[in-house]
Amino acid sequence: MKTITAVPYYDLKEQYAALRSEILEALDRTCRNAAFSLGDEVASFEKEFAAYCEARHCIALNSGTSALHLALLAAGVGPGDEVITTPNTFIATAEAIAYTGAKIVFADIDPRTANLDPALAEAAITLSTKAILPVHLYGRPANMDSLRKIATSHNLALIEDAAQAHGARFRGKRIGSLGVSAAFSFYPSKNLGAYGEAGAVVTNDDRVAQYCYAARSHGEIRRYFHDFIGYNYRMEGFQGAVLRVKLRYLDDWSARRKAIAARYRERLSSLALDFPQDDPRDECAYHLFVIYADNRDPVQAELKNRGIGTAIHYPQPLHLQKALAYLGYKTGDFPHSERACRRALALPLFPELTAEQIDYVCDSVCEIVGKA
Ligand SMILES: *Cc1c(COP(=O)(O)O)cnc(C)c1O
Repeated sequence: MKTITAVPYYDLKEQYAALRSEILEALDRTCRNAAFSLGDEVASFEKEFAAYCEARHCIALNSGTSALHLALLAAGVGPGDEVITTPNTFIATAEAIAYTGAKIVFADIDPRTANLDPALAEAAITLSTKAILPVHLYGRPANMDSLRKIATSHNLALIEDAAQAHGARFRGKRIGSLGVSAAFSFYPSKNLGAYGEAGAVVTNDDRVAQYCYAARSHGEIRRYFHDFIGYNYRMEGFQGAVLRVKLRYLDDWSARRKAIAARYRERLSSLALDFPQDDPRDECAYHLFVIYADNRDPVQAELKNRGIGTAIHYPQPLHLQKALAYLGYKTGDFPHSERACRRALALPLFPELTAEQIDYVCDSVCEIVGKA
């Protein structure tokens, strides 16, 4: 057995080595059909991913950010409206709201799950609120039952940011069909990653689907007839081809992520750390395995000295980002998100990690952090 001296934060090369012949064949098929934008591979992927999400429609797009944008537009969000979301997410969640002309309104997270706290989201509702946009952060489902009750009683659209949650289940139901629509990202490092930029809207609502199909292609309802000003948000043929190959492995990879997360939890639970909590009724997609440590920065530096890659998701909550200063929030407005951003550290988590690598990470964290 060779001694481990380094563990990368993530590594996509090994996965390619395993899939190389299938991927190259799919890319070659796309070239032979000259179907470079949308096309048969993308259309087939749409059917397969919709079925995977147990939903009626999947509209393939060029990024997760585009998916969020179209999901919001399809729900009728525009200037004068407000959309409630979490400040503990990637900026694309908030940017998509800004693109529509609506106002971004933050509500704090539940510190136990790191996801939007339904009670705080409800408290942020005003007469202008049009939608709630929860994020299934790190692949852990947000509390969709509570959020749906609130959305229904206030007549609001509930849209999922599912960019990190491919295949997760909330109370047995697949993420992607729990609100009016869901936005997925297939950015290369996501649980289901393309070989470039890609995303999709998933929905059970025929009207939302119809809007998204037209909006991704210049508002076109038939060739060169445009009903409204749309976008060029189409998925590339290559991405559809790659995603179809990779979708067939997603459940195996998710099972492996889950096993690695369980091993981390088992080995690290007696340390002076805590973790976002899983609800046993749900299935987390384990996009990231995050620990919360008070002395996060020195822990990260020491792991780096031992050759272990880690990442901080996210170092700065959105309400304190310069780009969003115009919203007028200040430090202290969302204390749970601020604390999470000071303490969160993501450990290596990808399906190809070996047992020896996982043990090396655990041994190192145990030595550095020490008992509670
Ligand atoms: C990755 C991500 C996005 C954006 O997806 P892109 O495909 O990179 O545009 C949006 N929201 C969250 C929570 C993400 O993690």
